[in-house]
Amino acid sequence: MRNKRNLLIALIIIIIPIIGSFPVLAKYLSKEIGYEFRVEGEPWFIVADKEGLEKILSEYKNQYLEGIDENAKIKNIEFKQKVEIIEVEVYPEDFSSLIQAKEKIYAKEKEATYIEVQKGDNLWNLAKKHGISLAELEILNPDIDPERIYPGDKLVIDPFKPVLDVVIELENTVIETIPFNTEYQKDSSLYRSQKKVIKEGVEGEKEVTYNIQLINGFQSKIEVVQEKVIKEPVTAVVKVGTKTTVSRGGSVNYGVVQGKRVTSNFGYRIHPITGRRSFHSGVDIAAKHGTAVYAYSDGKVVEAGWNGAYGLNVVIDHGSGLKTRYAHLSKIYVKVGQRVTTAQRIGAVGSTGRSTGSHLHFEVIVNGTPRNPWNYI
Ligand SMILES: [Zn+2]
Repeated sequence: MRNKRNLLIALIIIIIPIIGSFPVLAKYLSKEIGYEFRVEGEPWFIVADKEGLEKILSEYKNQYLEGIDENAKIKNIEFKQKVEIIEVEVYPEDFSSLIQAKEKIYAKEKEATYIEVQKGDNLWNLAKKHGISLAELEILNPDIDPERIYPGDKLVIDPFKPVLDVVIELENTVIETIPFNTEYQKDSSLYRSQKKVIKEGVEGEKEVTYNIQLINGFQSKIEVVQEKVIKEPVTAVVKVGTKTTVSRGGSVNYGVVQGKRVTSNFGYRIHPITGRRSFHSGVDIAAKHGTAVYAYSDGKVVEAGWNGAYGLNVVIDHGSGLKTRYAHLSKIYVKVGQRVTTAQRIGAVGSTGRSTGSHLHFEVIVNGTPRNPWNYI
């Protein structure tokens, strides 16, 4: 009997404070409006502050606008994944703070992989070594000038992978040069070593509009949507001695080399994404490794050896302030001080120095200033 009474008293002692605290508990247990963040239908977290969440998301997306040309038109910026903010009723204890939300949004699946450029490296060899294409390597490193990479430079070979991908569509219009053609006229009154420019070629200009898609800041698609010629190029007319137009096989004879195609022209180029301007002081002619390189015309060798970014290079002084440079060679057959004649074999095509592949960089320097080589070859 006494035990039962004690038990009852004990129960009352325990229960009364619990009942008494009901209003407090009730308040704690009542639900509130929250905002659930879902990715591909999967709930990530719930926050109380919708505006705060939206601000984090917009800052996250906008970080990828950095480095894009200011003149570019941003057409769209969105997540690759399906992202939703859904209003829900939840207990306050289920809320995540904005700091926790930010951590999840900015999470990475994988960090980027970098390599450090060593002495003697070039983009072509590096791409081959790491099993990616040269084009990909250039896309991953838009700030790198392919002909100017230096030991110690860090290059991305595998980009970081965020959990949330950002897709940007942009349109940009840049001015590009149109190379001019050269018309050769055979002239029997000229010696075989002579060339005479009758009419200087002038590059044209065109306005090129690109449609570009970036994923997490890297170009994933690029297409030309419009090209408008602003200035037509003017064809150069060059007279050549009849015996100088020697054909050297099936591909195009550029005089100084038998090449496949021109991969980079002389002049300024504007990067369609970054808007950065760069200057190319010569023309790049893609040619097979080992292809013979010939002297542009008679002259004296003033440089024959390694010269930084040019790799193995030869410079010939033709007098009257005219010099020509042959860069990225694999072999050199001449020595400084040696006199060479037109179409003499002076070296072989290679990819030494800061080069993106087997090609000849041919430069024409007039009184110390690089000039458009198409006016000379
Ligand atoms: Zn070049």
